[in-house]
Amino acid sequence: MTVSPSLSVAINGRVLIVGATGFIGRFVAEASLAAGQPTYVLVRPGPLHPSKADTVKSFKHKGAIILHGLISDKTLMEKILREHEIETVISAVGGATILDQIALVEAIAAVGTVKRFLPSEFGHDVDRADPVEPGLTMYVEKRKVRRWVEKSGVPYTYICCNSIASWPYFDNTHPSEVLPPLDRFQIYGDGTVKAYFVDGTDIGKFTIKTAKDIRTINKNVHFRPPSNLYDINGLASLWEKKIGRTLPRITITENHLLALAAENRIPESIVASFTHDIFIKGCQVNFAVEGPRDVEVGTLYPGDSFRTLDECFNDFLLKLKDNLELVQEEKDQKVSTKNAVVESRAVTPTCA
Ligand code: NDP
Repeated sequence: MTVSPSLSVAINGRVLIVGATGFIGRFVAEASLAAGQPTYVLVRPGPLHPSKADTVKSFKHKGAIILHGLISDKTLMEKILREHEIETVISAVGGATILDQIALVEAIAAVGTVKRFLPSEFGHDVDRADPVEPGLTMYVEKRKVRRWVEKSGVPYTYICCNSIASWPYFDNTHPSEVLPPLDRFQIYGDGTVKAYFVDGTDIGKFTIKTAKDIRTINKNVHFRPPSNLYDINGLASLWEKKIGRTLPRITITENHLLALAAENRIPESIVASFTHDIFIKGCQVNFAVEGPRDVEVGTLYPGDSFRTLDECFNDFLLKLKDNLELVQEEKDQKVSTKNAVVESRAVTPTCA
């Protein structure tokens, strides 16, 4: 999955990934390592949650160079960029630390040798989408980072990858970590507004490809795989086909989503405001990718396919089967333990 040399701006190929222990960053770091390029991973100093420590260990095992620091520390970031001759910086910091990237941009600009910066975007085109609060605040911050990058003159690429392939729960920030519903579907509005659903591995793979491609310098790269354009009714039908049964469908109205957004509970209200923007207002599909700064990733790499949503839902089905087997095993174990207890009790009287 290397970009053809004539289209690549890389010389030493060194990539620094910030936020690699996070949900999206992990896919990006995995893809960078799979592409065989020198991959540097910035990890926050201090003790790590065990699962994150395992992630870092696995990156290291695959050849990543682990560095420690905070992107808000401009001096340190300058030192890291210079010492390691970093050419590409990809940030996948979470929603709460979007503005920390300002210091990172300043460091990149000061060093002057970074050929591309990808700020933490990984969602919608924030200059076009206009969610209600509190989602809007995150977009205002992402816009601020964009303007800072543009003013600095650092070449950039904005990844607008749309939704992660999964059931889009309106109150869960990382829905692909959860199975689609097994009891009932919650359908937003009339369920007919479409959105693009992209597998995490493809978010990683195409991010890495575009990061060094000269055709994506100073562009918004939109991920719009036609095979993954679904409305929520279609998504429900797809899952029903996989599990072999139909589930009740309950409507979540526009007002319901707006009321949850207005509660300003973080992060649930942010997710509710994005859900409203996607499935009521149609923010992913209400514009054409045709501006001078827009490019659709499929047109750049026509030979590369995306994993279909159908395939992604097969993964969920496998997970479901694994879960069911686990539950069954636990039940069986309980029965055998119970039997063991019964047997030992049965034996006791004879010993008495
Ligand atoms: P997470 O919160 O899961 O991860 C954030 C990562 O950034 C962590 O590794 C964290 O480190 C690191 N980090 C945060 N602040 C700093 C800092 N100052 N210096 C160094 N590292 C830092 O983020 P997400 O993956 O949820 O979000 C990443 C981006 O993807 C966001 O822009 C978000 O809006 C978008 N997104 C898109 C989705 C979609 O469906 N399209 C879904 C979810 C997110 P630590 O591990 O120490 O906390």
